Amino acid sequence: MSATLLEVTGLTCRFAGVTAVADLSFQVKAGEIKAVIGPNGAGKSTLFNMIAGVTRPSEGAIFLDGARIDPLPTFERARRGIARTFQNLQIFREMTVLENVMVGRHLVGRATTLTAMLRTPAVRAEERTMAEAGMALLERFGLAGRAHQPAGALSFGQMKVLELARALAGAPRLLLLDEPAAGLPHAEADRMAQTIRGLNRDGMSVLLVEHNMRMVMSLSHDILVLNNGRRIAEGSADEVRSHPEVLSAYLGE
Ligand code: ADP
Ligand code: MG
Repeated sequence: MSATLLEVTGLTCRFAGVTAVADLSFQVKAGEIKAVIGPNGAGKSTLFNMIAGVTRPSEGAIFLDGARIDPLPTFERARRGIARTFQNLQIFREMTVLENVMVGRHLVGRATTLTAMLRTPAVRAEERTMAEAGMALLERFGLAGRAHQPAGALSFGQMKVLELARALAGAPRLLLLDEPAAGLPHAEADRMAQTIRGLNRDGMSVLLVEHNMRMVMSLSHDILVLNNGRRIAEGSADEVRSHPEVLSAYLGE
Protein backbone atom coordinates (compact mmCIF):
# COMPACT_ATOMS: atom_id res chain seq x y z
CA MET A 1 0.00 0.00 0.00
CA SER A 2 1.50 3.33 -1.04
CA ALA A 3 0.90 6.46 0.93
CA THR A 4 -1.76 8.98 -0.02
CA LEU A 5 -0.15 12.00 -1.66
CA LEU A 6 -3.20 14.08 -2.51
CA GLU A 7 -6.63 13.87 -0.96
CA VAL A 8 -9.69 15.95 -1.74
CA THR A 9 -12.80 15.70 0.38
CA GLY A 10 -16.25 17.07 -0.36
CA LEU A 11 -14.83 19.44 -2.94
CA THR A 12 -17.45 21.72 -4.45
CA CYS A 13 -17.14 24.72 -6.76
CA ARG A 14 -20.10 26.88 -7.64
CA PHE A 15 -19.97 29.64 -10.20
CA ALA A 16 -22.98 31.90 -10.68
CA GLY A 17 -25.69 29.45 -11.64
CA VAL A 18 -23.38 26.47 -12.30
CA THR A 19 -22.06 23.83 -9.93
CA ALA A 20 -18.85 22.98 -11.78
CA VAL A 21 -17.65 20.42 -9.21
CA ALA A 22 -20.05 18.79 -6.74
CA ASP A 23 -19.07 17.10 -3.48
CA LEU A 24 -16.08 15.31 -4.97
CA SER A 25 -13.78 13.11 -2.87
CA PHE A 26 -10.83 11.04 -4.09
CA GLN A 27 -7.16 10.31 -3.45
CA VAL A 28 -3.97 10.14 -5.48
CA LYS A 29 -1.45 7.69 -4.07
CA ALA A 30 2.27 8.37 -4.26
CA GLY A 31 3.63 6.93 -7.50
CA GLU A 32 0.22 6.66 -9.14
CA ILE A 33 -1.09 7.94 -12.47
CA LYS A 34 -4.73 8.79 -11.95
CA ALA A 35 -6.80 9.99 -14.88
CA VAL A 36 -9.80 12.28 -14.65
CA ILE A 37 -12.08 11.93 -17.64
CA GLY A 38 -15.51 13.19 -18.58
CA PRO A 39 -17.32 15.11 -21.31
CA ASN A 40 -16.68 18.82 -21.89
CA GLY A 41 -17.97 20.87 -19.00
CA ALA A 42 -17.63 17.95 -16.56
CA GLY A 43 -15.51 20.08 -14.21
CA LYS A 44 -12.02 18.70 -14.90
CA SER A 45 -10.22 22.01 -15.41
CA THR A 46 -12.06 23.56 -12.46
CA LEU A 47 -10.83 20.66 -10.32
CA PHE A 48 -7.24 21.36 -11.42
CA ASN A 49 -7.67 25.06 -10.75
CA MET A 50 -8.82 24.31 -7.21
CA ILE A 51 -5.91 21.94 -6.55
CA ALA A 52 -3.38 24.41 -7.97
CA GLY A 53 -4.93 27.29 -6.02
CA VAL A 54 -6.27 29.41 -8.87
CA THR A 55 -9.93 28.84 -8.02
CA ARG A 56 -11.22 28.81 -4.47
CA PRO A 57 -13.48 25.86 -3.58
CA SER A 58 -16.97 26.78 -2.35
CA GLU A 59 -16.79 23.81 0.01
CA GLY A 60 -14.47 20.96 0.89
CA ALA A 61 -10.79 20.53 1.61
CA ILE A 62 -7.56 19.57 -0.18
CA PHE A 63 -4.68 17.80 1.55
CA LEU A 64 -1.13 17.16 0.37
CA ASP A 65 0.69 14.59 2.50
CA GLY A 66 -2.01 14.99 5.09
CA ALA A 67 -1.53 18.76 5.43
CA ARG A 68 -4.39 21.00 4.43
CA ILE A 69 -3.39 23.18 1.46
CA ASP A 70 -6.61 24.73 0.17
CA PRO A 71 -6.15 27.94 2.20
CA LEU A 72 -2.63 28.39 0.76
CA PRO A 73 -1.75 30.65 -2.19
CA THR A 74 -0.69 29.15 -5.52
CA PHE A 75 3.06 29.75 -5.07
CA GLU A 76 3.04 28.02 -1.70
CA ARG A 77 1.36 24.95 -3.23
CA ALA A 78 4.00 25.01 -5.99
CA ARG A 79 6.69 25.19 -3.33
CA ARG A 80 5.18 22.14 -1.66
CA GLY A 81 5.39 20.19 -4.88
CA ILE A 82 2.33 20.73 -7.06
CA ALA A 83 3.03 21.65 -10.70
CA ARG A 84 0.71 21.84 -13.66
CA THR A 85 0.32 22.28 -17.37
CA PHE A 86 -2.62 24.05 -18.97
CA GLN A 87 -5.35 22.93 -21.35
CA ASN A 88 -4.60 26.03 -23.40
CA LEU A 89 -0.86 26.41 -23.78
CA GLN A 90 0.61 29.12 -21.58
CA ILE A 91 3.97 29.69 -23.20
CA PHE A 92 5.71 33.05 -23.07
CA ARG A 93 6.37 33.37 -26.80
CA GLU A 94 8.76 36.33 -26.68
CA MET A 95 10.92 34.72 -24.00
CA THR A 96 13.49 32.10 -24.95
CA VAL A 97 12.82 28.40 -24.55
CA LEU A 98 15.28 28.29 -21.63
CA GLU A 99 13.70 31.32 -19.94
CA ASN A 100 10.31 29.60 -20.17
CA VAL A 101 11.69 26.61 -18.28
CA MET A 102 13.35 28.87 -15.72
CA VAL A 103 10.00 30.47 -14.93
CA GLY A 104 9.07 27.07 -13.49
CA ARG A 105 12.08 27.19 -11.17
CA HIS A 106 11.41 30.77 -10.12
CA LEU A 107 8.03 29.68 -8.80
CA VAL A 108 9.79 27.66 -6.15
CA GLY A 109 13.10 29.58 -5.91
CA ARG A 110 14.20 31.35 -2.78
CA ALA A 111 14.80 34.81 -4.22
CA THR A 112 12.34 37.41 -3.04
CA THR A 113 11.45 40.28 -5.35
CA LEU A 114 13.79 42.63 -3.46
CA THR A 115 16.88 40.39 -3.49
CA ALA A 116 16.14 39.58 -7.14
CA MET A 117 16.04 43.32 -7.97
CA LEU A 118 19.31 43.92 -6.16
CA ARG A 119 20.82 40.91 -7.94
CA THR A 120 22.88 39.91 -4.94
CA PRO A 121 25.65 37.33 -5.49
CA ALA A 122 23.36 34.70 -3.97
CA VAL A 123 20.67 35.53 -6.51
CA ARG A 124 23.15 35.40 -9.40
CA ALA A 125 24.42 32.03 -8.19
CA GLU A 126 20.85 30.80 -7.97
CA GLU A 127 20.17 32.00 -11.52
CA ARG A 128 23.21 30.08 -12.78
CA THR A 129 22.00 26.94 -11.04
CA MET A 130 18.54 27.46 -12.54
CA ALA A 131 19.95 27.88 -16.03
CA GLU A 132 21.99 24.69 -15.68
CA ALA A 133 19.03 22.74 -14.37
CA GLY A 134 16.89 24.22 -17.15
CA MET A 135 19.38 23.14 -19.82
CA ALA A 136 19.48 19.63 -18.37
CA LEU A 137 15.69 19.42 -18.69
CA LEU A 138 15.76 20.74 -22.25
CA GLU A 139 18.36 18.13 -23.14
CA ARG A 140 16.20 15.41 -21.68
CA PHE A 141 13.27 16.55 -23.85
CA GLY A 142 15.27 17.14 -27.04
CA LEU A 143 14.90 20.93 -26.93
CA ALA A 144 18.43 21.93 -25.91
CA GLY A 145 19.26 23.05 -29.46
CA ARG A 146 16.39 25.54 -29.29
CA ALA A 147 17.26 26.88 -25.80
CA HIS A 148 18.11 30.43 -26.89
CA GLN A 149 15.42 30.87 -29.53
CA PRO A 150 12.12 32.56 -28.78
CA ALA A 151 9.61 29.97 -27.59
CA GLY A 152 7.16 31.31 -30.18
CA ALA A 153 9.34 29.74 -32.90
CA LEU A 154 8.66 26.20 -31.64
CA SER A 155 6.10 23.90 -33.22
CA PHE A 156 2.86 23.29 -31.31
CA GLY A 157 4.07 19.84 -30.24
CA GLN A 158 7.38 21.25 -29.00
CA MET A 159 5.47 23.90 -27.00
CA LYS A 160 3.48 21.12 -25.30
CA VAL A 161 6.77 19.44 -24.38
CA LEU A 162 8.20 22.77 -23.20
CA GLU A 163 5.21 23.26 -20.93
CA LEU A 164 5.85 19.86 -19.41
CA ALA A 165 9.55 20.69 -18.96
CA ARG A 166 8.60 23.93 -17.23
CA ALA A 167 6.26 22.08 -14.87
CA LEU A 168 9.13 19.72 -14.01
CA ALA A 169 11.63 22.52 -13.42
CA GLY A 170 10.49 23.02 -9.85
CA ALA A 171 11.07 19.30 -9.08
CA PRO A 172 7.41 18.69 -8.19
CA ARG A 173 5.98 15.58 -6.54
CA LEU A 174 2.56 15.84 -8.16
CA LEU A 175 2.05 16.78 -11.81
CA LEU A 176 -1.35 18.03 -12.93
CA LEU A 177 -1.51 17.53 -16.69
CA ASP A 178 -4.49 19.15 -18.41
CA GLU A 179 -4.88 17.51 -21.84
CA PRO A 180 -1.16 17.00 -22.64
CA ALA A 181 -2.01 15.23 -25.92
CA ALA A 182 -4.71 17.65 -27.12
CA GLY A 183 -4.03 18.80 -30.67
CA LEU A 184 -1.07 16.47 -31.13
CA PRO A 185 -0.87 14.15 -34.13
CA HIS A 186 -0.93 10.44 -33.35
CA ALA A 187 2.84 9.85 -33.25
CA GLU A 188 3.51 12.87 -31.02
CA ALA A 189 0.66 11.89 -28.67
CA ASP A 190 2.25 8.45 -28.34
CA ARG A 191 5.61 10.04 -27.61
CA MET A 192 3.98 12.25 -24.96
CA ALA A 193 2.45 9.12 -23.40
CA GLN A 194 5.90 7.49 -23.33
CA THR A 195 7.34 10.58 -21.67
CA ILE A 196 4.66 10.57 -18.97
CA ARG A 197 5.17 6.84 -18.41
CA GLY A 198 8.92 7.43 -18.03
CA LEU A 199 8.37 10.20 -15.49
CA ASN A 200 6.06 7.94 -13.54
CA ARG A 201 8.60 5.10 -13.58
CA ASP A 202 11.04 7.56 -12.01
CA GLY A 203 8.51 8.05 -9.22
CA MET A 204 6.39 10.99 -10.36
CA SER A 205 2.74 11.02 -9.29
CA VAL A 206 0.39 12.30 -11.98
CA LEU A 207 -3.18 13.52 -12.16
CA LEU A 208 -4.05 13.40 -15.84
CA VAL A 209 -6.95 15.03 -17.65
CA GLU A 210 -7.09 13.75 -21.21
CA HIS A 211 -9.60 13.02 -23.98
CA ASN A 212 -7.26 10.68 -25.84
CA MET A 213 -8.69 7.40 -24.51
CA ARG A 214 -5.85 5.28 -25.87
CA MET A 215 -3.49 7.33 -23.73
CA VAL A 216 -5.76 7.29 -20.68
CA MET A 217 -6.37 3.54 -20.84
CA SER A 218 -2.73 2.65 -21.41
CA LEU A 219 -1.20 4.98 -18.80
CA SER A 220 -3.58 5.16 -15.86
CA HIS A 221 -3.55 3.04 -12.76
CA ASP A 222 -6.94 4.40 -11.83
CA ILE A 223 -9.59 6.40 -13.67
CA LEU A 224 -12.09 8.83 -12.18
CA VAL A 225 -15.05 9.67 -14.39
CA LEU A 226 -16.89 12.97 -13.91
CA ASN A 227 -20.10 14.20 -15.44
CA ASN A 228 -21.68 17.53 -14.55
CA GLY A 229 -19.16 17.92 -11.73
CA ARG A 230 -20.05 14.59 -10.10
CA ARG A 231 -18.20 11.32 -9.89
CA ILE A 232 -20.06 8.71 -11.90
CA ALA A 233 -17.42 5.97 -11.79
CA GLU A 234 -13.93 5.19 -10.58
CA GLY A 235 -11.72 2.19 -11.15
CA SER A 236 -9.43 0.39 -13.57
CA ALA A 237 -9.64 0.86 -17.33
CA ASP A 238 -11.74 -2.30 -17.66
CA GLU A 239 -14.11 -1.35 -14.87
CA VAL A 240 -14.66 2.14 -16.22
CA ARG A 241 -15.02 1.05 -19.86
CA SER A 242 -17.91 -1.26 -19.09
CA HIS A 243 -19.71 1.06 -16.66
CA PRO A 244 -23.23 1.85 -17.97
CA GLU A 245 -23.28 5.45 -16.69
CA VAL A 246 -19.93 6.14 -18.34
CA LEU A 247 -21.20 4.82 -21.65
CA SER A 248 -24.33 6.96 -21.49
CA ALA A 249 -22.40 10.09 -20.44
CA TYR A 250 -20.14 9.70 -23.48
CA LEU A 251 -22.84 8.71 -25.89
CA GLY A 252 -24.98 11.58 -24.59
CA GLU A 253 -28.02 9.24 -24.34
P1 ADP B 1 -14.01 20.61 -18.27
O1 ADP B 1 -12.58 21.02 -18.06
O2 ADP B 1 -14.32 19.26 -17.74
O3 ADP B 1 -14.42 20.73 -19.72
P2 ADP B 1 -14.66 23.00 -16.76
O4 ADP B 1 -14.09 22.76 -15.41
O5 ADP B 1 -13.90 23.88 -17.68
O6 ADP B 1 -14.97 21.60 -17.47
O7 ADP B 1 -16.11 23.59 -16.60
C1 ADP B 1 -17.10 23.03 -15.74
C2 ADP B 1 -18.32 23.93 -15.72
O8 ADP B 1 -18.03 25.13 -15.03
C3 ADP B 1 -18.81 24.34 -17.10
O9 ADP B 1 -20.22 24.40 -17.06
C4 ADP B 1 -18.21 25.70 -17.27
O10 ADP B 1 -19.00 26.49 -18.15
C5 ADP B 1 -18.25 26.25 -15.86
N1 ADP B 1 -17.17 27.22 -15.59
C6 ADP B 1 -15.85 26.94 -15.62
N2 ADP B 1 -15.13 28.03 -15.28
C7 ADP B 1 -16.04 29.02 -15.03
C8 ADP B 1 -15.94 30.38 -14.62
N3 ADP B 1 -14.75 30.95 -14.40
N4 ADP B 1 -17.08 31.08 -14.46
C9 ADP B 1 -18.29 30.50 -14.67
N5 ADP B 1 -18.44 29.22 -15.04
C10 ADP B 1 -17.35 28.48 -15.23
MG1 MG C 1 -11.07 21.46 -19.37
